Amino acid sequence: MKKLQLIYGFILPIYFLFGNLEIKGQFLIDQDSFLSPKTIYQSAEITNVGAAILKIEDFLEKQDTFDFEAIAGSNTNLGFTKDNYWLRFKLANTSDKPLSLFFETGRPITDIIELYQVNEAGTITSQITGDLLPFSDKPLSHRKMIFPIELEANQTYDFYVQYQSDGEVINLPLDLHSANSLILSSYKEQLVFGLFYGILLLAGTIYLFFYFGIKEKSFLLYFIYVLSIALLHLSLDGYFFQYFTPDAGWLSRQAVLIAAAFSTLAFGRYVQIYMKVKSFSPLLEKAYNSLHICVLTLVGAIFFIRAGQEFYYPFVNLFGILLLFLIIGTLVTSIRKQAAPDIFFRIGLFFFFAGFLVFILNNFSVIPNSFLTENASKFGTGLEIIFLSLSMANRIRILKSEKEKMQEIALQRSQESNEIKSFFLSNISHELRTPLNAVIGLSKSIQDSTEDQKIKSDLEVIQYSSLGLLSAIDDILDYSKIEKKELKLEERQLEISKVIQELRTITENQVKNKNLKFIYEEINQLPKYILGDKARIRQIILNVLNNAVKFTQDGEVKLSINSIMKNDNTVDLSITIQDTGVGIDQAKLNRIYESFIQEQIDDKRKFGGFGLGLCIVKALVELYQGKIDISSEQGKGTKVQIHLNFKVPTREQKLSVSPIVNGVYDLEGKHILIVEDNPVNQMVMKSILRKWKNTSFDIANHGLEALDKLKASHFDLILMDLQMPEMDGYEATEAIRKGEAGSKYQNIPIIAVTADATDKAKSKVKAVGMDDYMTKPVDKDELYTKIQHAFYLAKVDLSGVL
Ligand code: ADP
Repeated sequence: MKKLQLIYGFILPIYFLFGNLEIKGQFLIDQDSFLSPKTIYQSAEITNVGAAILKIEDFLEKQDTFDFEAIAGSNTNLGFTKDNYWLRFKLANTSDKPLSLFFETGRPITDIIELYQVNEAGTITSQITGDLLPFSDKPLSHRKMIFPIELEANQTYDFYVQYQSDGEVINLPLDLHSANSLILSSYKEQLVFGLFYGILLLAGTIYLFFYFGIKEKSFLLYFIYVLSIALLHLSLDGYFFQYFTPDAGWLSRQAVLIAAAFSTLAFGRYVQIYMKVKSFSPLLEKAYNSLHICVLTLVGAIFFIRAGQEFYYPFVNLFGILLLFLIIGTLVTSIRKQAAPDIFFRIGLFFFFAGFLVFILNNFSVIPNSFLTENASKFGTGLEIIFLSLSMANRIRILKSEKEKMQEIALQRSQESNEIKSFFLSNISHELRTPLNAVIGLSKSIQDSTEDQKIKSDLEVIQYSSLGLLSAIDDILDYSKIEKKELKLEERQLEISKVIQELRTITENQVKNKNLKFIYEEINQLPKYILGDKARIRQIILNVLNNAVKFTQDGEVKLSINSIMKNDNTVDLSITIQDTGVGIDQAKLNRIYESFIQEQIDDKRKFGGFGLGLCIVKALVELYQGKIDISSEQGKGTKVQIHLNFKVPTREQKLSVSPIVNGVYDLEGKHILIVEDNPVNQMVMKSILRKWKNTSFDIANHGLEALDKLKASHFDLILMDLQMPEMDGYEATEAIRKGEAGSKYQNIPIIAVTADATDKAKSKVKAVGMDDYMTKPVDKDELYTKIQHAFYLAKVDLSGVL
C-alpha cells in the first residue's frame, strides 16, 4: 500500500514535470531538445481500410465507422500487406513556445506515407513521402521516412497517417525526434552501418581476388552472396533508393526483392559447394537444387510478371526460411556423417541463424525493440561474414597445403621416374653394348688373323655398321644426359692428330661409296697432345662430318683445321666442315639445334638419322665453352665452323703414357685378371690380349671367383666387369680395397670394363675405388693405353711412398 502511495505521490508528479505524458489518445510534449527519440505508440491507434485509397476529408467523415485498434509495441509489424492503413493520434504542445519536431514512421522502403496535421481550428496541412516518389520530393532529405512538424504553443493537433504498400511488410516505428536526437541517432547508425558495410566490402573484394587467384568456385559464390547481402541491406536501409535510384521507379521498388532472392540463391549454392553436400547426402543435394530452381523461377517472375507483386515478398521470405532449415539439416547430417565443416564455418552459420531469429522475433514484436534488436540482422550478418571469411582463409590454408603435398608427390614421382629412366637407359645401353662388343671385337680379331681380302672387306662393313649402331646408342644416351644436364667431360691427354687421322679414314671410306671428293687441310701444324675428352672431340667432328657426307649427293666435303697456340699453354682449334650438298633453308636453320623438329622428320625419311646429332654437338661445344656457327645456302651447300680451346699438356704430363710403338703391344711380363661373366665378352678380351707381347691373363666369372684367384696367384692388374652374378664388380672392388684378397692387392690397379655408359656408373666406379673406366665394345688401343696409364700412375704412387 505504501509503495503505491509512493508511486502516485512522488514519482508520477516528477514524471509529469520533467518528461511528457501521454493520456490515452493524446501525447503531451513540452520541449524540443531531448536527446533520445520518444515513441508515441501508446497514444496511437490504427485501422485497416482495405484496398481503398481515401482522401483526408473522406476519411475524417467516415472515421467513426472504422474499427481502430491500439498499437502493440514501439515497432509494430503489420506483416506483408497490400491493404492501406490509417493511423491517428493527438499531439499536444503543453509549453508556451512553439516546438519544431520530427516524426518518424514506416520503414525506409515504404511505398507511400501521407501525414495530415489538423490544428484546433480544423486547418489541415499535409506532407507526403515514400519510395514510389522521387527522393528529392521527400519532406526531409533523410534515408528514413521522417516528417518535420511544427507545434504552436499550447496547441493540440490531430494527426492522421495513411500507409500504402504493394505487398511488402509495413513496420510502424512511431518516434518523435528533436533535431538533437535525430542527429545523435543518425550518428550512432552511421557508425554501425559504416562498420557493417565496410566488412562486407572488404570480405567481398578479398574473396573475389582469391577467386581470380585460385579459381575455386566457392570463393566466387561467396563474393556474390556478400554482394547481394550488401545490396539487400542497402535497399532495406533506404540507401539504394537515396543514392542509386533517387528518381524511384521499377528498380527502386524491386531492389529488395532481387537482392533477397540473389542472396538466398548465392548463399544456398555456396553452402552446398563449400560443404560438398553431394558427397554425403544426395537427398539434401536434390533439396538444394530444387530450392535454387524455385528461387530462380521467382527471380524470373519478378522481372517479367508484374501482376504477382504481392506474392513475391512472402515467397522470398519463405525461401529464406526454407534455406535456413536446409542449412540446419545439412549441418546436422554433416556432423553425423563426419563431414562437418570447420569451427569457423559453424560459428559463422550460428550467427546467421541468430541474426535471422532475432530479426524475425523482433518483426513479430516478440522481443522488445532496441537499437540492438532492430539491427540484429546487421550484427548477425557482420559476425557471420567475419567467421565465414575466417573459414575461407582456413580453406585457402588447406588448399595450399594440399597443393604442396601434391607437388611433393609429383616431385617424388618425377624422381622415381627419372631413376627408372636412367636405370632403363643404363640397362638398354648395357644390353646393346654387350653383343656389339662381341661383333666388333671378334670381327677385328678375325680381320687381323686372316689374309683373305674378301673376308677382310666384308668384316670392315660389319665393323662400320656396328660402329654406326654404337654411335646411335651413344646419341640416345647423350641426349638423355643433356636433358638431365648430366653430360660431363673428361680431361685426358690425347694425341689430336691421331684422332683427326682416324676421322679422316672413316670419312674417306664413306665418301668412296658416294663418289664424293674429300679434302683435308691443316693450316698450322697441330700440337701433338692436347688435354681433352677424346670420345667427345671425336663425336663433335664426326657428327658434323657425317651430316656433310649424308646430305651431299655430288661434289665435295672439306675438313680444314687451324690451330693457334696461345701463351697460356692452350691451343685454339678452328674446325671447318664444308660441303656442296642440299643445304638448309633459313626456317630450318633457325631451329637447327632443336631435337626432333618436323623438318628433320621429313629429312629422316630421305636420309635417315635420329635428329639428335647437332643438338648433342652444340651441347658438347658449349661444355667446352666453344662456339659453333652454321651457314648454309639451299642447293649450294653448308659450312659448319667450330671453335674450341684446349689445354696443352706440359713436358712431364707428356711422359705419362707410353705410346704404342710401331703397332707393338707389350706389357713386359704383366699378368692380368679379367673378371667377366659373359662368355662372348670373355672371348673378345681373350682374342685381344692373346696378341699382345709378354702378356698373360686369367679369367674369373664373377667377383667371388676373382677374390679366390687373387688369393691363389699373383696378378698385376684387374679388368673388372660391373654387372655380374654372385658378386658384382663394385662389391668385388670394395672387398679388394679392404684387403680381403690380401694386403698386397689393396692398391692393385683396377680398370672397370663395362657396357654401362651412364655417368652414374662412372661416378660409382670412382667412388668404390677403381682406377679407371672404359666402355664396351672394347677398343684394343684404348685398353692398352689405359693399362699403361694405370701402371704409370701406380709407379708414381709407389715412388711417392718410397
Ligand atoms: P640427323 O640425325 O637427322 O642428321 P642432326 O641434328 O645431325 O640430325 O641434323 C639435323 C638436321 O639438320 C638434319 O636432319 C638436316 O635436315 C639438317 N642438316 C644438318 N647438317 C646438314 C648439312 N650438312 N646439309 C644439309 N642439311 C643438314
